Amino acid sequence: MKQTHSEAGRERGEVALLAEIRHRAAHDAGLVQKSGLRLGIGDDCALLTPRAGEELAVTTDLSIDGRHFRLNWHQPETIGHRVLARGLSDLAAMGARPVAAFLSLGLPRSLTCAADGRRSTRSRTWVQRFLDGFLALAETYNTPLAGGDLAESTLAVADIVLVGAVARGRALLRSGAKPGDLLYVTGALGGAAAGLARLVEIASSAGADPPRIPKKLAARLAPHLCPQPRIAQGLWLQRRGVASAALDLSDGLSTDLAHLCEESGVAAEIDASALPIHPAATLAQALHGGEDYELLFTAHPDTRLPRAIAGVPVTRIGRILKARAGRPAMTLISLKGAQPLEAHGWEHFS
Ligand SMILES: [Mg+2]
Repeated sequence: MKQTHSEAGRERGEVALLAEIRHRAAHDAGLVQKSGLRLGIGDDCALLTPRAGEELAVTTDLSIDGRHFRLNWHQPETIGHRVLARGLSDLAAMGARPVAAFLSLGLPRSLTCAADGRRSTRSRTWVQRFLDGFLALAETYNTPLAGGDLAESTLAVADIVLVGAVARGRALLRSGAKPGDLLYVTGALGGAAAGLARLVEIASSAGADPPRIPKKLAARLAPHLCPQPRIAQGLWLQRRGVASAALDLSDGLSTDLAHLCEESGVAAEIDASALPIHPAATLAQALHGGEDYELLFTAHPDTRLPRAIAGVPVTRIGRILKARAGRPAMTLISLKGAQPLEAHGWEHFS
């Protein structure tokens, strides 16, 4: 096919970017050995070799500008971090260790090229900064980037596939909760929703570009901007076999607990006074705010759990009940008495 100059230039740009990603994703032999990735970027497929007695856990997650992130609110490093954190959190929920990540990006051309006239400067492109955030988190959680795809798109989209490994038959599932089990969460709840609310305030007065976050607000916004997937906590629960059911809090406690109740065929009761509400959050944000990426799990009442797992607090917040006709699936106990708890999970950026 005959190419115009700009098409040829665009392709050159894409080839250079792919080469850069391959170079930056090159892994040291130790990590490759540890994770089970035998062959990464460069061939038609990656090759993965789980250890004997393991099975693979696979999750996929699509992030879209305007729905899961906003180019005018979030710095590119933040978007890269959050895209990977969402996928890693699903592995944590199953008690799986990360093996490899696959990242596909659809990006407007302005995000893959340096701004016009700045070619001679050392300014970094949006996509390079996205990769800075993505690869920093990948390194923290020993997750090699093993492949992906790149295409020009009018809308910025990032699709992540995470492959993990877990001892065969030992993955944490949503379906194992039994009446009488106690209900626990890791970390604090509502911090991501509170951080997002603050970010919206800052961004709305900042103009078209994503705002720089003042240092004094960094900690307050961290639960939203750089959530930490609970990989170590999920592995701990899985290896000790103490959780009867588990999932990660991506849509909000009320919505995710409803998923757990449905999959396990049970009801649940939450004690409002026991909830580990983030200091910046309201009760509503703790109950319904999404994207905390903490783990929600159940355990037999005789199970003794530590106050913290790998440095993250564990809090008992309620218990599992028998599902019964005429009883709400979820109940909230507070000073006002017992009330039905509706699933009002957070609809991302709608
Ligand atoms: Mg999940």
